[in-house]
Amino acid sequence: MTASMNLTTDQQGVTDGREHRHAGKTALVTGGARGIGSGIVRRLAAEGAQVTFTYASAKPEADALEATVSAAGGDAMGIQVDSADRAEIRDAISSIVAREGRLDVVVSNAGGGTLKPVQELSDEEIDRMIAVNIRGTLDTIRFAAPHLQDGGRIITIGSVTSTHFPNDISSLYGMTKGAIASLVRGMSRELGPRGITINNVQPGPVDTPANPASGPAGDALRATIPVGRFGTVEEVAALVSHLAGEEGAYINGASLDIDGGYSA
Ligand code: NDP
Repeated sequence: MTASMNLTTDQQGVTDGREHRHAGKTALVTGGARGIGSGIVRRLAAEGAQVTFTYASAKPEADALEATVSAAGGDAMGIQVDSADRAEIRDAISSIVAREGRLDVVVSNAGGGTLKPVQELSDEEIDRMIAVNIRGTLDTIRFAAPHLQDGGRIITIGSVTSTHFPNDISSLYGMTKGAIASLVRGMSRELGPRGITINNVQPGPVDTPANPASGPAGDALRATIPVGRFGTVEEVAALVSHLAGEEGAYINGASLDIDGGYSA
C-alpha cells in the first residue's frame, strides 16, 4: 500500500491542490517578515509561488524567514521597503517584474499603528498611520496592477475594526482600514474586466508580535471572542491562499471577516 492510498479521495485532492495551487506564480507580500505576513509568505511559497516580501526594519526576521522557506524547498526573498515611501514601493515592484518577468499575486499586508483615542494621537502618529495603512496600500495596488497577469489577484489585509469598534482607542486605525475596504470594493470594477480579482481580508484578534495572545490585553480580548481564542497567522494565510488561487475566482470586491465571531 502506498502512502497516498492511506488517504481518502478528499484528502488526496486537498493535499495535491495545496502542493500545486500556486506553482509558477510570482507573488509580492508587503510586511512579510513577521506576524500575519510571514504566515502568508510561508503558505504561498509552500504551494509553489516564488515570493518576494518586504520589511521595514526586521532584517534578522527576514533572513530567518528566507532560510526557513528555503529549507522547506520553497523560494522567498526579502527586500527592505518602507510602505510609506512611494518611490521605494514603485522601484520594488519594477525590480520584481524585471527579475521574474511576471507578477500574479499581490498581498498588501504591511500596516498597524498606534491605538489611542484620537485626541491623544500626535500629528506624527496620525500621519504615519495614514501614510502606511492607506497610502501605502493604495500605492502598492496601483503600481502593481498594470503588471499583473490576466487572472491575477490582489488581496489586502484590513481589519474588522473597519466597522467594529469595541473600545475607544481604535477610531483612526479603524478609519484607515475602512478606507482599504472602500478602495477594494471600488477597484473590483476597474480590474474585474481583466480577470483580476481584489479582495480585503479583515482579521479580528490574531496572535502576532503586534497583538500577542499572551500579552497584557490577551485575557480581556479573549473573553470577547465567541470561539474563546485568538486566530493564528496560518488561519489567515489559508484564506489568503484560497483567494489567490483558482477556486477564489468569483470572489471579488469583498471584505471577508476572519475573527472567530469577534465582531458579531
Ligand atoms: P506585526 O507588527 O506583527 O507585523 C507587521 C508587519 O508589517 C511587519 O513585518 C512590519 O515590518 C510590517 N510593516 C509595518 N510598517 C511597515 C512599513 N512602513 N513598511 C513595510 N513594512 C511595514 O503585525 P501583524 O502581523 O499583527 O499585522 C499585519 C497586518 O494585519 C496589519 O495590516 C494589521 O493592521 C493587520 N491586522 C492585524 C491584526 C492582529 O490582531 N494581529 C488584526 C487585524 C488586522 P517590520 O517588522 O520590518 O517593521
